[in-house]
Amino acid sequence: MTSINASADVARATERLRPVFGDRLLLPTHNGFASATRIWNCAVTHRPVAIVRCLDNDDVRAAVLTAREYDVPLSVRGGGHDWAGRALRDGGLVLDLSGMRQVAVDTEAGTATVGGGAHIGDVSGAGQQYGLATPTGTVRTVGMAGLTSPAVTVHSAGGTGWRWTTCCAPMSYWPTAAS
Ligand SMILES: Cc1cc2nc3c(=O)[nH]c(=O)nc-3n(C[C@H](O)[C@H](O)[C@H](O)COP(=O)(O)OP(=O)(O)OC[C@H]3O[C@@H](n4cnc5c(N)ncnc54)[C@H](O)[C@@H]3O)c2cc1C
Repeated sequence: MTSINASADVARATERLRPVFGDRLLLPTHNGFASATRIWNCAVTHRPVAIVRCLDNDDVRAAVLTAREYDVPLSVRGGGHDWAGRALRDGGLVLDLSGMRQVAVDTEAGTATVGGGAHIGDVSGAGQQYGLATPTGTVRTVGMAGLTSPAVTVHSAGGTGWRWTTCCAPMSYWPTAAS
């Protein structure tokens, strides 16, 4: 069951978002809404009231300001691999960043500046072009922002199997032997 914040004015919020996002604003009645709420943990049943597919910082800003103005809770979707499904807020507005996966590599510094929805595979693939290795996980579709957030408790493979740890990976590349 969806729980909606009593003071949230979802109707006015979606009216404000419609001219900004057009068909990138998805409501539960729209085709594609169900697939847009599909995440890695299929057991999660959180039901947002709207999804906006952001393409740039202006989109993100517009969505955040609108959510705040109309008291609609929001969540951010990166790679969608959080086990608890925190990318999808029950009764909330989802900022879907899967259209923001750009990666800019600074070969001098050995660092990357990445879009909020970039995956492990995007970052490691971009680095490989310059002979730079990415010290991170192996599942290419995990989101880089979710993975590197210090507030997120994640799995990590230990010598004897899976264990819990807090992940805070730097977004720096390691030079490879060939570089
Ligand atoms: C199959 C699998 C393999 C994994 N392998 C590893 C591994 O090798 N090493 C490791 O450390 N971890 C690993 N993890 C754990 C993974 O790193 C975390 O679950 C991580 O939080 C997933 O991030 P995401 O962006 O894919 O998920 P999401 O569910 O999209 O996001 C996770 C959280 O971060 C927030 N968030 C995401 N992007 C942003 C953003 N741009 N701005 C603000 N908030 C954001 C979301 O709102 C949510 O609360 C793995 C998980 C799975 C399911």
